[in-house]
Amino acid sequence: MDDKQNNNDINGNDNNNKNKKNPKSMIVLIVISVVLTLLFWKVYNRISDGRTDEAPYSQFVQALDAGEISEVEVYSSQIKWVPKQGTGILSKTTYVTVPIADDSLALRLKTAADKYGTEYKGVDESGGAIFYSIISNVAIFALFFLFLNLMMKKGGGIMNVGKSNAKVYMEKKTGVTFADVAGEEEAKESLTEMVDFLHNPKRYLDIGAKLPKGALLVGPPGTGKTLLAKAVAGEANVPFFSMSGSSFVEMYVGVGASRVRDLFKQAAQMAPCIIFIDEIDAIGKSRDSRHGGDSEREQTLNQLLAEMDGFDTSKGIVILAATNRPETLDKALLRPGRFDRRVIVEKPDLKGREDTLKVHSKNVKMDETVDLHELALATSGAVGADLANIINEAALAAVRNNRDLVSQQDLIGAVEVVFAGKEKKDRLLSREEKRIVAYHEVGHALLVALQKHTEPIQRITIVPRTMGSLGYVWQVPEEEKYLVSKAEMEADIVTLLGGRAAEELKFASVTTGASNDIEQATRKARAMVTVYGMSDKFGMVQLEAVEGQYLDRSMALQCSDETATKIDKEVRDMIKASYVKAKGILSKHLDTLDSIAAFLIEHETITGKEFMEIFERIEGAKETKEAQPVQA
Ligand code: ADP
Ligand code: ZN
Repeated sequence: MDDKQNNNDINGNDNNNKNKKNPKSMIVLIVISVVLTLLFWKVYNRISDGRTDEAPYSQFVQALDAGEISEVEVYSSQIKWVPKQGTGILSKTTYVTVPIADDSLALRLKTAADKYGTEYKGVDESGGAIFYSIISNVAIFALFFLFLNLMMKKGGGIMNVGKSNAKVYMEKKTGVTFADVAGEEEAKESLTEMVDFLHNPKRYLDIGAKLPKGALLVGPPGTGKTLLAKAVAGEANVPFFSMSGSSFVEMYVGVGASRVRDLFKQAAQMAPCIIFIDEIDAIGKSRDSRHGGDSEREQTLNQLLAEMDGFDTSKGIVILAATNRPETLDKALLRPGRFDRRVIVEKPDLKGREDTLKVHSKNVKMDETVDLHELALATSGAVGADLANIINEAALAAVRNNRDLVSQQDLIGAVEVVFAGKEKKDRLLSREEKRIVAYHEVGHALLVALQKHTEPIQRITIVPRTMGSLGYVWQVPEEEKYLVSKAEMEADIVTLLGGRAAEELKFASVTTGASNDIEQATRKARAMVTVYGMSDKFGMVQLEAVEGQYLDRSMALQCSDETATKIDKEVRDMIKASYVKAKGILSKHLDTLDSIAAFLIEHETITGKEFMEIFERIEGAKETKEAQPVQA
């Protein structure tokens, strides 16, 4: 995720390029001075020439015959002349005219020269003109070149084709060890062998073992792939070269390939070492047409393959690459002898999250209220980068509030900041809007409390957040779950529709506030039908396949159009039924809805505990009333 930042501040660029004079800036300088000289020369000529006016041939002949001309230059395609009066160097006006075939011209010139002392000469145009046109073409070309170069600056400029300027990061010592990477035990285990190999390659070579040249770290963004690669380098105590796949690929064909060459050359000089290529899918995309191909990327990939085949493992170079789209990679990259090992770096589970929080809070001063286990429970779905961010946000919040220690409240607040954004103080909702939002959120919350198979509420808030929400109900599971039952999914959908249901029951109108709920509910219902085989109508048939498992989990239909239409209808029916159920449940508990909404409007944020207290007071009273025998 933020590996760029991590790499940038350590050691800086590769030292190879740094000491060389940058050839690019030299050439730019030369070009600029040439252009300036040309411009100056032109301007100077302009000034010394004075003005040039066009005049008809007849006027020229008249002036010549009348003896009003001091100089005449005859070119093959034009005649220039200077009149007698006003011949100061700056005010000199030159006239040009296009000659017509005139046999008498020579005679007239001679007469004028004899009579009035007019000077005349013929000028061979070709030499000068060609020179001039070459110069002006060069000038235009130079300007164009300069412009192009400026445009391409981002890509390194055309001047430094092949120089992997400022893109390779080298760290002599990463200072990261496996202890800094929390969770990911399986990944660490498979990488330990690499570390051992880098420590004493001889042992492996003696026995005749071939070691994998590279491993592919596969997992969602922010799960610590870069961190793991650095840890391998740190554990083995070898330099760490890193480059992002996207920075290989340039507009110019051949740049990527030469960058790959450069990278391996530099690494070979520092072997044993680790080469880390982040986002390898940027170059390693399959060369078939499905994912779109272009020759530059193919060349870069071919060069990478060639380098991987070419280098000698005995030198101790290990290549690690990271991707979150392994399915798009070219098969050639995954062949034995290349990235034949695949290390899965998953999103952390409960224990992994707790460990990650521990690692990152090692140097953070915290008070006794802090319960990292609870925090780990509350952050299901978060990756290492999120967790690191949460700890830091909490520490910042503590400082902001002038406290020396971080409290659990800071941490919980930080979770909200990371997932929902900061509180938006300047967005003032009108009283009416606030009421609607409150009823909407309490609608969700009541359905959580009134249904089985739901997870406890941590917090309800109607403070708008920077990431767009006007309020939300935050549920935290009591324990990590790896399986979700059909009943739980159904209850979830009803809960999601509870916001709109409450709005409709209370205000007899609906608002745009439920758009996100609708999206989620639809996605859930659809997945039940097409992926999880939870619909009786379709049974256990895969109707959609997951694409981009580690990224956005987009879905691709795997059925006929006819079936797709039926799926749409089934999803619609499920949503409709769930909405009816949500309204049905809420309509029996309108008094509770009113009381909790009133409390929420007053306090803006309430805890799950406060919610349950009110809920139990009202509902409990009802139950005892119902339980009393009705007197006939
Ligand atoms: P990726 O390369 O998978 O996108 P990074 O390695 O760049 O993720 O992770 C970004 C940051 O998140 C790391 O620098 C680290 O602070 C934190 N982080 C991620 N995963 C872990 C982990 N398993 N243990 C500790 N910190 C982690
Ligand atoms: Zn909602």
